[in-house]
Amino acid sequence: MSISELVDGRRLGNYVNGAGRLAATIIQHPEIFTSGGKTPITASIDIAANCNLRCKHCFLYGKEHELAEVEDERFLDQVKNFKQEHPSIFHSNWLGGEPLWRKELLRKAVRLFPINWVVTNGTIPIDGEWYNTAFFISIDGTRKIHNQIRQPWKAGSSQYSVYDRAKHTANSASAPTFVHTTINQLNAHTIPDLVNEWKNDTTVGGFQFSLHTPQKIRTRESGMSPIDERLFLQPEERSQVVGVLHDLKDQYGNFVLMTHGQIDLLSPDAQLVAYGKNCPLPDMVVSVDSQFQQKSPCVMGPGMDCNKCGCIAPTMTHQWKNGDVGSFLLNAGTFFKPPQRNE
Ligand code: SF4
Ligand code: SF4
Repeated sequence: MSISELVDGRRLGNYVNGAGRLAATIIQHPEIFTSGGKTPITASIDIAANCNLRCKHCFLYGKEHELAEVEDERFLDQVKNFKQEHPSIFHSNWLGGEPLWRKELLRKAVRLFPINWVVTNGTIPIDGEWYNTAFFISIDGTRKIHNQIRQPWKAGSSQYSVYDRAKHTANSASAPTFVHTTINQLNAHTIPDLVNEWKNDTTVGGFQFSLHTPQKIRTRESGMSPIDERLFLQPEERSQVVGVLHDLKDQYGNFVLMTHGQIDLLSPDAQLVAYGKNCPLPDMVVSVDSQFQQKSPCVMGPGMDCNKCGCIAPTMTHQWKNGDVGSFLLNAGTFFKPPQRNE
């Protein structure tokens, strides 16, 4: 048997194992389907407090020193305790910092859940075996915009293009890899070019999109900070972006990993259907930071303006809650896309 057949055999074994664990969870917790979206099914765990980049919009920007991390074995014990406290959860999102900063810990941690998504900046190789895990590389626009926002941390490494490194990571990944882009005022005009470029130049399986979510600042007339004022899409711009996403969906089909129904939920007219007080995340997703402190009401923590939110997660959980099989299958399919090297 060749090495590639062995690797594929292992992937198949992981799928069967994950499907069995998933089925067992659902059988033991029928409330996943019967509680009307009041049961947690997903975790969001910050596995790393540190990162090898310093992006302009990040809390790490301008910081030199590494933050303290929970030691590996203790972290894994905390994940196991977390699972016992929330036995209906069958899927975990792994965030940071940069999750691959702690790659070998991450490789062990994903085995604790039947299925996993990792959100990465794409500058650390996705290599080796990954148990039922799909990766999402965060891309902020075409090369110039992405490189302006996302910069290397260490002095002396400033020569490399973060954007090109992300493409290289995508094309050499050993696990299914996709792109997540948060659309804002600065990058909205680049989205069709961005999708076209990555469709043609890389082996990623497709794109998910969020819209920029501002923090709520009651003391300012606009209700948001000066940075958010430059990034937030006002209702008319938001409508135009929704139109662009529908067009991209028509053009690229399932390379846009959202249904038309999900995209509609982003439009200003429908915005409060899945956001604000109707956001399903506080009930369906349990989020913890790198010190295992619970974040509320969602992964973004307190202080966000829920009525102006554009995160993709509420569109997914809303559709799941309402039995949208198309959206469920589209997202479930991310685990089954075999990695295709393109180098
Ligand atoms: S890649 Fe993510 S965690 Fe790292 S600096 Fe950028 S936004 Fe922050
Ligand atoms: S900020 Fe969080 S809780 Fe609020 S609407 Fe957005 S995803 Fe939901």
